[in-house]
Amino acid sequence: MSTEQYDAVIVGAGFGGMGSAIQLNRLGYDKIAILDREDDLGGTWHVNRYPGLTVDVPSTTYSYRFEPNPYWSRLYAPGSELKTYAEHVADKYDLRRYMRFNTVVDGARWDDDAQEWLVSLSDGQTLHTRFLILATGYLCQPKKPDIPGIESFTGTVLHAQEWDHSYSLAGKRAAIIGTGSTGVQLIPKLAEDASELTVYQRTPIWVMPKLDFGFGPRAQRLFAKVPATQRMLRVSSDLFMDIMVTLAMWRFRQFRPVNRIAAAIGRLHRFAAIRDRDLRRKLTPSYDFGCKRPTLSNVYYRTFNKPHVHLETAGIDRIEPDGIVATDGTKRVIDTLVLATGFDVWESNLPAIEVIGREGRDLGKWWRENRFQAYEGLTVPLFPNMLSQASPYAWVGMSWFDTVEYQMRHMERLFGEMQRTGARTFEVTEEANARFLDRMLTLLDDSVFLLGNCANSRSYWFNSSGEAPLFRPTTVRQAVKEQQHFPLSDYALA
Ligand code: NAP
Repeated sequence: MSTEQYDAVIVGAGFGGMGSAIQLNRLGYDKIAILDREDDLGGTWHVNRYPGLTVDVPSTTYSYRFEPNPYWSRLYAPGSELKTYAEHVADKYDLRRYMRFNTVVDGARWDDDAQEWLVSLSDGQTLHTRFLILATGYLCQPKKPDIPGIESFTGTVLHAQEWDHSYSLAGKRAAIIGTGSTGVQLIPKLAEDASELTVYQRTPIWVMPKLDFGFGPRAQRLFAKVPATQRMLRVSSDLFMDIMVTLAMWRFRQFRPVNRIAAAIGRLHRFAAIRDRDLRRKLTPSYDFGCKRPTLSNVYYRTFNKPHVHLETAGIDRIEPDGIVATDGTKRVIDTLVLATGFDVWESNLPAIEVIGREGRDLGKWWRENRFQAYEGLTVPLFPNMLSQASPYAWVGMSWFDTVEYQMRHMERLFGEMQRTGARTFEVTEEANARFLDRMLTLLDDSVFLLGNCANSRSYWFNSSGEAPLFRPTTVRQAVKEQQHFPLSDYALA
């Protein structure tokens, strides 16, 4: 058994984990291990390689503020560029030396005597570390649908998160299950190749027009030479996203018309693309805009006008070796089944590994037996020296980078104070944690989640108790600002 000793162990080599490592470096820590079960860095942008993948937040906003990328080819860059960007960040900040791939973390336990975390790996090793950072993301456990007979299917099954690019859909009769953000990007691509495509939709999604444009070599050179030009673009995309999310979702009570305008744009978009009234009705969500992640596409709706694309809304009864039987008895014989069925956010995630804190508190159990909660979306009482990035009330805005960067600022203030006072451990107080949770719940009272009609949304933003504890319902600006001022007395430093 190894007894390797670290300043910090970070679980996850995506943009969250890399951001934390960069911040730790800035704070003077160098004995860092970044562990990832995959065989390379980039997190979701390494795993997701399906056709049509693009970022669905403007790339100017979907990147670190401190590391702008002048070379995006479009406002909504393809997924491969995000992977390249992740590699660039890892190289520039010399993070690869910390990374260990194909490394599965089973769990972590706080050792109160040694005042350190013991991190168990599936190969039997134990790493000892002063700080533990969970950077596994919200969307890291792909969900396979529990449909009767699915195992009996004898054709080819393609999973969005394990795409086999060597497989050609040309001339194949294909079906796809799932019409979330992934499905919306995949469906138009599948329709280009497959001879027949049946889309099994359970819940329609809000699809908005995508105001996308390319950045040619001239624009890229300008962004590289005069970064202020790209920064100006970023200020606009940041502001637009922040205002829209805040008014349409978090301040629904006060700004309901903004939500209604967004919904009207979605309706108009659908109307402009589809002439067939019955088809349009089937694609119309019966829940309010903002209950579930809306998506962007200029080609999704039009795809359903193609004669070889069929929308099936009756629900799936079972899968047979050669096809899918809907609840109305219709059977589609298919060669290929594509699964874009999303992620398990609530069962095998939050946290993604077993974490045992002081007094034997099990994080996953405690969250489930009490409420989901984390101070500033990052720290939890009885879990000293631990930061959990994809925590309850952590997700701010729509770009994951906003969350990562406000958390980096939190680290700066908290770890800076530890260094100033010579403390070895931090732990958020129960009082501060309760106060933060109370505030989040009060803010949510004004949100579309509580006041809107979300009953039919089947949104993964809600858990089985009907609570929506993933988002921090504030502006990004507010989240960032608070990290410079949170009371240091909210932590017990020792
Ligand atoms: P998702 O939004 O959870 O959608 C999963 C889809 O599968 C839903 O339509 C769901 O239907 C359907 N489904 C699941 N189980 C089913 C079953 N047993 N029978 C029938 N249908 C079933 O997952 P996602 O599309 O992968 O997107 C997840 C998140 O990833 C997004 O919200 C977004 O945050 C992120 N994302 C981002 C990008 C990007 O930036 N480029 C791209 C893709 C995804 P119900 O709705 O009825 O449950």
